[in-house]
Amino acid sequence: MTAPFPRLGGVLHSGGISLESLADRFGTPLYVYDLDQVRESLRRFEDAFAGMDLLLAYSVKANGNLAVLHRMAQWGAGADIVSGGELFRARQAGIPADRIVFAGVAKTAEEMRAGLREGIYAFNVESEGELRRLEAVAAEEGTVAPFAMRVNPDIVSPTPHEYTRTGHAQTKFGVPMGRALDLYREAARSSHLWARGIDVHIGSQILDAGPFVQALDHVATLARSLRSEGVLLEFLDLGGGYGVRYGEAGSERELDLEELAERMKPTVAELELRLVLEPGRSLVGPAGVLLTRVEYVKEGQGKTFVIVDGGMTELLRPSHYGGYHAIEPVRARPGAETRPVDVVGPICETGDFLARDRSLPLPQAGDLLAVHTAGAYGFAMASNYNARRRPAEVVVEGGEAFLVRERESLEDLVRGERIPWPVG
Ligand SMILES: *Cc1c(COP(=O)(O)O)cnc(C)c1O
Repeated sequence: MTAPFPRLGGVLHSGGISLESLADRFGTPLYVYDLDQVRESLRRFEDAFAGMDLLLAYSVKANGNLAVLHRMAQWGAGADIVSGGELFRARQAGIPADRIVFAGVAKTAEEMRAGLREGIYAFNVESEGELRRLEAVAAEEGTVAPFAMRVNPDIVSPTPHEYTRTGHAQTKFGVPMGRALDLYREAARSSHLWARGIDVHIGSQILDAGPFVQALDHVATLARSLRSEGVLLEFLDLGGGYGVRYGEAGSERELDLEELAERMKPTVAELELRLVLEPGRSLVGPAGVLLTRVEYVKEGQGKTFVIVDGGMTELLRPSHYGGYHAIEPVRARPGAETRPVDVVGPICETGDFLARDRSLPLPQAGDLLAVHTAGAYGFAMASNYNARRRPAEVVVEGGEAFLVRERESLEDLVRGERIPWPVG
């Protein structure tokens, strides 16, 4: 794979455009996504799983920008959504409803109604209560709800942080395997439920094929039991979580998709089921960078702080999950002394940092830094805390840059608020 943001003449570029020029034109902090790289990542999935009946349902929560979703739709991807808001986004961007799967533990009746009216491919149901509610809503709507039970295979997936593990028995996600079988049997007696598939999602940023293969084996066993009872499914949904390279020491690798596909092929072929995958991070993460400008360099007591104009409000992963992102100066500073620094943001929280004890060529105020692998769970988790305006987003494609989200204005910050008394 080509480097998403190569250094040319000492300056990082995206699709032939210097990141410096993008920061000058659109301001900082700024998200930049290289769509040619996203396209390439999607192709890598298509190539690895070629020959299988595959639906790539891009996980919208990783990066829900309409322009990104629109390209996904044009490239044949569907969507994995977790809220009515994401359904709205996906449909606005032109993703066909029959390529949308709906996950999430707390679906409201309203969200179910919206999904049914749009005609989505399947609801990935996470509990018995949810299945009952889905049946009731489908009955009210006079329709049949296609669903998959999300099973919890009780696999402890080796993700870097416990918050991104979802496949063991103690999480809120899914139902135990044994219970799932009973629920499928019940559903078979309902005229408003259509058991269309089985779903599993074991976590995020998983670097080995093993846990996925294990999860597949679990759901395959369930699919065989169902088949023997006459419940014929259409698809297996193996969820997302395909790990990318963040560049942290010791994790200098990404999941081997070819190996994963090879190991999954025999089971998928035997079952003759459609395979749904829900990659999020692996499609957009490496294709994105957060540009942030140095405001001050401050010598603390035995520590150097590089204070930048973007922090946890723009990129929450470092403070929330201890996430690692490689950071580089956009323009090389020859001769700069390299030393360990903390790269910190403007937010009034000690937990507001992008990197700690990171060796960096010491920048100066006004320098631009690139925070890598920020295309997934970057803007998507941005907030207005400290009355920060959420940043702008730019995509680069075919050597051209397009603004795909304006930086928020001060007016945006108070939109919808009311002072219920006379002012002045
Ligand atoms: C978050 C999520 C995904 C995507 O995970 P990635 O690590 O971004 O690939 C897929 N499916 C479900 C159900 C999710 O919650």
